[in-house]
Amino acid sequence: LTERRIIIVSNRLPVKVVINKSGQFQLQPSEGGLATGLSSVYKRNDNLWIGWPGAFLDERQRAQVQPLLEAEKLLPVYLTEEEIAAYYEGFSNETLWPLYHYFPSYTLYKKDDWEMYCAVNRKFAEHVLRVAREEDIIWVHDYQLCLVPELIRQQLPNVTIGFFQHIPFPDFEIFRLLPWRKEILKGLLGADLIGFHTLDDTKHFIASCSRLLNLEVMMNRIVVEGREVMVDTFPMGIDFEKFQQWARKERTLQNERRLRSLVGSLKIMISVDRLDYSKGILNRLEAFEQLLDRYPHMRGKISFIQLVVPSRDQVPQYRWLKDEIDKKVSSINSRFSSFGWTPIYYFYRSFQMDMLSALYKTADIAMITPMRDGMNLVSKEYIASKIDPRGVLILSEMAGASKELLHAIIVNPNDIEAMVDALLQAIEMPEEEQVYRIRAMQEIIAKYNVYHWVNLFIETLEEVKQQQDKLT
Ligand code: UDP
Repeated sequence: LTERRIIIVSNRLPVKVVINKSGQFQLQPSEGGLATGLSSVYKRNDNLWIGWPGAFLDERQRAQVQPLLEAEKLLPVYLTEEEIAAYYEGFSNETLWPLYHYFPSYTLYKKDDWEMYCAVNRKFAEHVLRVAREEDIIWVHDYQLCLVPELIRQQLPNVTIGFFQHIPFPDFEIFRLLPWRKEILKGLLGADLIGFHTLDDTKHFIASCSRLLNLEVMMNRIVVEGREVMVDTFPMGIDFEKFQQWARKERTLQNERRLRSLVGSLKIMISVDRLDYSKGILNRLEAFEQLLDRYPHMRGKISFIQLVVPSRDQVPQYRWLKDEIDKKVSSINSRFSSFGWTPIYYFYRSFQMDMLSALYKTADIAMITPMRDGMNLVSKEYIASKIDPRGVLILSEMAGASKELLHAIIVNPNDIEAMVDALLQAIEMPEEEQVYRIRAMQEIIAKYNVYHWVNLFIETLEEVKQQQDKLT
């Protein structure tokens, strides 16, 4: 990797500030894939990470936390409750999130939220500008910070800026619905390299730039005021080795033994999602119900473990969804349960890696069927955890991961019939075929891991910059 200093900028820092039992501040690492992948970057040399530490702190508390963050090379951007409500919960999660996941009817267009989004993006850019130099590489992440690249570019015209969007970029006909569509595009085009998970996202972004801003496009290069911006596809990977190691840990093995003794000879299907309407949880429950309804011999043979990780429960659509899931699960369980068999085990909480890994290993089937997902890391984690390569992945064609995991059973999550058929196919799949498919997918996931993703993005970014320098 480059010797130049890299500054990572994202909404959240890779740690959360929490208060421990004795009333002292502590940093708790976040488990997400981004934190893992980028920890290999920001811990090197004098690199650093700028973002919100996930807590509302007063001046005195900030001073207490400062040395902890500094020691980890983390630079906090403190946000107020009003800022979080309008910029994060509002514009990011009630405007951009639903629109970009093809839920236009859930999308709110509030001017106040937009204005706060602009203000908070300016705040992030100011924090970057306090430490950045022209020779640095600045890597901005995700839809909460779309305006940051341009705001930095205005002050540091020659600095190297990369932007990666972790969620889909929608088709032009969807994107055009946004009142602030041009501002968002212009904000992003302050970067030298803009990356997406899939080729479709990349094409959608380029099409919107050409149609809305009338910019000159040459293949995947867009000319912005004489500067060439490159747009490209970088499917994000996971830390494959880490998941293989987790699968071998003693605590995981203990959990696995406990799970196996509970489930006996039952087939186990799992799914793991954050609470989100984009994850297709209700459609999946519907497919499972229809399986039990139409194929009575499946009753007593298969149980479904559904993990839902709490998320954004202040937003009305999420609260509604939670109620609907509760109702659907209890209606299926009350309808089909027998003494000795429960159709669905439903957990609304998060789990530690040693339990998650045990679940991935125990599951005969993982059914990951989002209505729309930028990538979906859970599907890759399931495959990576299979040190015994038996199991079947049913994967939505609307997840970015489906473009890489071609050996999964690929389904349209709106097609309940097809999902029932996929379940039957998975339940009956011969072992040799399971092994063949898992191995093929493991090869891809091991090769295109998160370190590969980081390196490729940064290398490409440096190349783009060198190209630009040659042209001027
Ligand atoms: N995850 C977790 N604890 C849990 C369940 C899931 O840390 O109890 C992690 C999971 O390992 C995965 C991430 O949450 O890395 C979910 O990422 P994904 O891309 O699948 O979906 P997102 O939530 O980012 O939309």
